[in-house]
Order: sequence, then structure tokens, then C-alpha cells
Amino acid sequence: MATYDLDLFVIGGGSGGVRAGRLAAAMGKRVAIAEEYRFGGTCVIRGCVPKKLFVYASQFPEHFEDAAGYGWTVGETSFDWPTLVANKDREIARLEGLYRKGLENAGARIIEGRAVLLDRHTVQVGAETLTAENILIATGGRPNPHEALPGREHCIYSNEAFDLTELPRTIAIEGGGYIAVEFANIFHGLGVETTLIYRGKEILSRFDGDVRRGLHEAMEAKGIRIICQDIIEKVEKRADGRLDTQLMSGNVETFDKVMLAIGRLPNTEGLGLEKTGVETGVKGEIRVDAYSRTSVENIWAIGDVTDRVQLTPVAIHEAMCFIETVFKDNPTEVDHQDIATAVFSQPEIGTVGLSEEDAARRFEELEIYRASFRPMRHTLSGRQEKMIMKLVVDASSRRVVGAHILGPDAGEMAQLLGIAIKGELTKDVFDRTMAVHPTAAEELVTMYRPTYRVRNGERLYDR
Ligand code: NDP
Repeated sequence: MATYDLDLFVIGGGSGGVRAGRLAAAMGKRVAIAEEYRFGGTCVIRGCVPKKLFVYASQFPEHFEDAAGYGWTVGETSFDWPTLVANKDREIARLEGLYRKGLENAGARIIEGRAVLLDRHTVQVGAETLTAENILIATGGRPNPHEALPGREHCIYSNEAFDLTELPRTIAIEGGGYIAVEFANIFHGLGVETTLIYRGKEILSRFDGDVRRGLHEAMEAKGIRIICQDIIEKVEKRADGRLDTQLMSGNVETFDKVMLAIGRLPNTEGLGLEKTGVETGVKGEIRVDAYSRTSVENIWAIGDVTDRVQLTPVAIHEAMCFIETVFKDNPTEVDHQDIATAVFSQPEIGTVGLSEEDAARRFEELEIYRASFRPMRHTLSGRQEKMIMKLVVDASSRRVVGAHILGPDAGEMAQLLGIAIKGELTKDVFDRTMAVHPTAAEELVTMYRPTYRVRNGERLYDR
């Protein structure tokens, strides 16, 4: 039998790679993990974590406004962007340190540098060449550079948005997905005049129609400009540094910054995959089976590089299934069913399971339970923002197949609803569940009568 330097070589120190490397090393396996930039990957360094910190920062102006109804007088306020960026950097450095320490304590060898595959068992990093019985590719993704757009070199992507030297006065963001919507709210909250430009009819195309419309209206009510059914066709830099932005509709508008957030591409270029026989798909994503095994028996891939579901907890789950399969003799398929997720817009979206639209295609008859109300905290603040809660129920099995929330703490609620939906609970169990009062979430267990039914795609209202 061939002998190798290592049991496992992990390429990429993001959420998925670090989890797999740490668990394997903790089992006593000989593990090395290579990272060319910073440990923590997109999530920690330029994604979920700094984004959420920026979301918090951008919410303060509304908190200050809301305070008046509760009797508070807030004095003059001001915001300092460099302070936020510096504090965010400090927190990221702390988290990066924890990721490294976790690997080191488990006994994994950390290699700083870009790894390239030489063959199906051999990896080169700088001057060093190592062989490994198993190789795990967890190299993540990067913003789609939008090659076809003339003037894209003048634009920024989410990576740059985290480290701008100063806040722009105006910004246009192209895209209608998670990143575009979240950053539109962040920039607006921080006082930037913000325009969102989306090619489709309604933002967040894969979400439930009610929360999409509800969020669109709420964002516009705050003062975010949303242009749908349009795209940016050209960006030109003027002498004063501002950007003339030509839209398909014919309008030319000028912004300080233009941000592109039109999806992310897998990081597979220059990895040496062609020397191993690992197959890739049209976007360059690594093709894997249900166990995250590539077309080459000893090479595995997890996380965004596989372009299955681009979410941190999914990459971590895939890493844990990989460990079970490869090192614990317990083949474990990755379960991508009913993943709860949140969009950290303002108001927030929390969702799990099927949208009404998707469920209507799958089930003959649905019961839809829907409530729209002003959350209690806004009664005194006077803010008009409405909260939406919606349960999608398969009428024949009574199973709750989708839950969608728009409003404060929606992400927190989606996490718990995820358990109920994963557990295939019926609406009757929701009905038997005692409410926690006074909360907004109690609405989820007190909607006793369907708002309407959906039969063969048609909405039917009970009299
Ligand atoms: P998304 O896939 O969410 O959205 C991409 C958007 O860009 C869509 O609105 C899409 O339109 C639009 N688009 C695609 N191609 C073009 C084009 N050529 N011209 C104009 N518009 C285009 O990607 P994001 O970049 O927002 O985020 C990447 C991934 O990161 C997400 O899918 C998500 O999985 C993850 N993420 C998760 C977060 C969270 O959990 N809160 C936060 C941020 C990111 P259309 O809908 O019509 O296809």
C-alpha cells in the first residue's frame, strides 16, 4: 500500500475547511491545511461576521428616532466610519486567531500559501510538496466580476465595501439577492443615498412573494430607491472621480460608487484540477456526490466551491458529514433539505422551507396562515413598519412546509422554526403549542384559521 505524508490535506481555511481539518486532527489524523489569505474565509473576513457588525451600526439612527416615543431625548449624534472599520478589523483579527488556535490545538499543521494540486495525491505549496491520502478542497468563492460590463474596473464588490477609506455620499448597487439587499440597507442606514438596481420584477427572487413585496415597500418607505427590471450597461469614470452609470432603460445617472453584487463564483481557477481528473461544471464549480466526493475517489470538496448552497452553516455541515464518511466509517449524506436562512435587511427576513409559490407547484392544496401587524415596540415609537408572518401548510398532510417572517429578529425565529419544519411537524402541533406572551413570535402559534387556501394555483378565501 502506498504511504503518504498526511492522512488529509485541506485546501482553504474557511468555515468548511477549518472545521474538517480541526476535527480530523483532533482524531489523531495527520492533517495539513493551506490558506493563501487569512483563516476564517469569506464568512469571518469579508462576509457574514463583518456584515452583521455593519448591520448593527446602520440600525442606530432608527433606534435614536424610536427612543423619543419612549420618553428619551437623544442629543446630537454623529457617525465615524473609520472607527467602525477599525473596530470591525479588531474583531475579525480576534476571530481569525481563534480559528488558528483551534487548528493548532487539535494538532493540524498550518501552511500559509497557495496550494496547487500536482496529481491526485500530491499538493505543492511554495517550495514544499506533500502527499496525502485524502485531499479536501474548500476554497470557497469570490464575487462574480461581471466580465461583460464595460467599466466594471471602476466598480466595487462586497470585498471592497468592507474597507472603503470613506463612505460615499451616493451609491448604486446592482443585484437583487442577499448581498445587494443587505448592503443597500447598511449603506442607507449609515446615511448614504442608496439606489438598488435589479433586473427582475421583484427583489430576492427565490423568497416568498409576501416577504419580497413587504421588504421592498419597507425599504422604499425608509428612502432606499429601488429600480426593478433594469440593468447597468456601462460605467464611466468622470474627471471628478464620480461614475456615470448608463442603464438599459436609457437613463444615465451619476454615483460616487457603484457596487456589483450579482452572485458569487467558485474558486477553482489555477488549482491544478486538470492534473487530477476532478470534474467541474459550467461555472467552474466542483462536481460532487451526496457525500461530497468528487469524480476522483480520494478528492473531496465542500462549501461554496461546490456551488450547492452558498451558506456558512451548510459548509460546516458538509465538513462534518465528510469526517463521518472518511474517518469514522459512517458514510453520511449531506442533508440540504429545509435550510433556515435570514436576510439581514431592515426589516429582517427569516425563512425556512417552501415559499407559497414553490409549495403551490408541489402540493394540490395549501392552507396559508398569514398575519401582518405593527410590532409592539413600534406602538410607542410611532414607526409604521409592519411585521409579516406566514405559514404554508400542505392541506392533505397538515404538515407546515414553509415559514416566512419579515420583521425584527426574524432570523432568530427562523432558526427555531427550522427545527419544527425539519421535524415535519403539523399545523395541529403549532396550534397545541402555548404562546409566549407578549412576543411577536406568539403569532406563529395563534393563527388558527387559514387566511386563504391555494388550490391549483388559485387563491380561495373562506367566507
Ligand atoms: P444571489 O444569488 O443571492 O443574488 C444574485 C443577484 O444578482 C440576483 O438578484 C440575480 O438576479 C442577480 N444577477 C445575476 N446575474 C446578473 C447579471 N448578469 N446582471 C444583473 N443581475 C444579475 O447572490 P449574492 O451575490 O447576493 O450572494 C451570494 C451568495 O452568498 C448568496 O446566494 C447566499 O447564498 C450567500 N449570502 C448569504 C447571506 C446570508 O445568509 N444572510 C448574506 C450574503 C450572502 P436573479 O434573481 O434574477 O437571478
